[in-house]
Amino acid sequence: MPINFDKKGIVSKILTFSCVDGPGNRLVIFLQGCNYDCITCHNPHTINHCDDCGDCVVSCPTEALSLKINKVTWDESRCTGCDKCIEVCPNKSNPKTTIYSVRQLIELITKHHHFLNGITVSGGEATLQLGFVLELFKAVKASKELAQLSCFIDSNGSLSETGWYKLLPYIDGAMIDLKAWQDATHLWLTARGNHRVIQSINLLALSDKLHEVRLLYIPDKTDLLSEIDAVSKYLSMLPQQVNIRLNAFQHHGVIGDALMWDKCSEEQMQQFSSELTKRLGREVLVPSIYT
Ligand code: SF4
Ligand code: SF4
Repeated sequence: MPINFDKKGIVSKILTFSCVDGPGNRLVIFLQGCNYDCITCHNPHTINHCDDCGDCVVSCPTEALSLKINKVTWDESRCTGCDKCIEVCPNKSNPKTTIYSVRQLIELITKHHHFLNGITVSGGEATLQLGFVLELFKAVKASKELAQLSCFIDSNGSLSETGWYKLLPYIDGAMIDLKAWQDATHLWLTARGNHRVIQSINLLALSDKLHEVRLLYIPDKTDLLSEIDAVSKYLSMLPQQVNIRLNAFQHHGVIGDALMWDKCSEEQMQQFSSELTKRLGREVLVPSIYT
């Protein structure tokens, strides 16, 4: 199994410890770039790749950004993390991305592996950098020190079957968002239909690699409650060990029209989850906080 340790990925953020991105303690790598344009995106600055327009450079209070030969450069040592650059970016992008090779990430994971159950690659949409994710997971599985770490992917489900077949030998689990039931509602919310999402969920379930399906509940906007019978019938066909996680729409990080929408309250979530639980005949995971 040859591994390309020089394969590079564009990373927007790394958390060396997370307990909410898959089972146990995980190192999470967030990749830049997404093929959806969700109205409710909580990290809209991860959607597009920076086009080096330079608009954000003057917004930086600590001169951590500069324009050198028409390329925006970020000096991490000067950055305070104020995110002013992200606020002014007209392109839903981020000047603070870092290019990592597989080799560099393996070194980082090795440094932390004693405290980890696994790694999760998230986004943006992680599968848009499929070649990089494949080489990274292959390298983890081939390492004597790291092979016990589980490799998870957090995805919007838009990857083709061909792409999933490439990943399946190297992933232990996938977490997929199902943002709406009707194709038209999904298209309105994300700028893409949900045909591929359903296809991905089905394929991962059949392959015993589906860890979690996540439903974003946006009262009066998503169709998950009005279509609850169809949604429940579909979810009840998935293996019992698959987590069904409900996320409540909140305003954190959101920009544009969705900021005018009502947030999902605990009572609204309880109503939705009890309707779903009643039909599914099993528990679903609900948020612990509503802010
Ligand atoms: S987050 Fe960092 S780079 Fe961006 S404006 Fe603030 S200090 Fe500058
Ligand atoms: S992050 Fe946004 S504002 Fe800054 S250079 Fe890139 S595209 Fe322009």
